[in-house]
Amino acid sequence: MAITTLLFDMDSTLIDIDEILFSKTYFKLLHECHFSDFDLGYFCDSLTEITRFVMLSKIPKEFTLDTFVKEMSKKYKRDPKDLYNNLLHFYNNEYESLNPFVRPIKGVKKMLKYCFKEGYNVVVATTPVFPEVAIRKRLKWGGLEIFDFKLVTHAGNMHFSKPREEYYQEVLFLIGKKKDECIMVGNEFMSDIVGPTRMGLKTFYCPLPTVNDDLFVSPELKRFSKIKPTYRGTINDFAKLVADGL
Ligand SMILES: [Mg+2]
Repeated sequence: MAITTLLFDMDSTLIDIDEILFSKTYFKLLHECHFSDFDLGYFCDSLTEITRFVMLSKIPKEFTLDTFVKEMSKKYKRDPKDLYNNLLHFYNNEYESLNPFVRPIKGVKKMLKYCFKEGYNVVVATTPVFPEVAIRKRLKWGGLEIFDFKLVTHAGNMHFSKPREEYYQEVLFLIGKKKDECIMVGNEFMSDIVGPTRMGLKTFYCPLPTVNDDLFVSPELKRFSKIKPTYRGTINDFAKLVADGL
């Protein structure tokens, strides 16, 4: 079946983000704003643990945002409604100061314009552990707010998260597409390539050039060493592939 739909990971695939500095500053800011009664180290560790739990949870009736707030409420002994409001206030305001850590990637805007012009459905398939406002801000900082994406996944519209296959099944369900008409493009092997490849989607793996490609050296990834992406290259190689006809 011909490819009609392009699923893109966002961070380090469509937008350039200094993930380490971004996360460090994000934790510090959120702590300062709403959680300063906890030790910073404890807050960072516990929020990381909660995030991991949410990414791996399988609760079909709960959006990931609800699971997130519920887990935070248990951990920090706060009212879920207050937590939810605090988080939204944070993402609408203080989160802005993370803008300097996100930049456009040369060639991506042009590539997406071409994809839209050619009639592809374009999905931003980013890990849905942040509310929509946060994801939209990152897209804007990466210069991509002008596009009318078929779907942008976020914590308020998804019940499952990457790296689960259920996440990809939910994306296909939401856009009404079959697996063999989609390709997933992303920089992270575990989150962007393993699930979709196992499900039978085509995949384009575009790791950062600066990342030491020792995927199969890492013990936890070794068991996936039989999984091979359909294609591999830079995001600009993907642009060429689209121009040549997928
Ligand atoms: Mg990424």
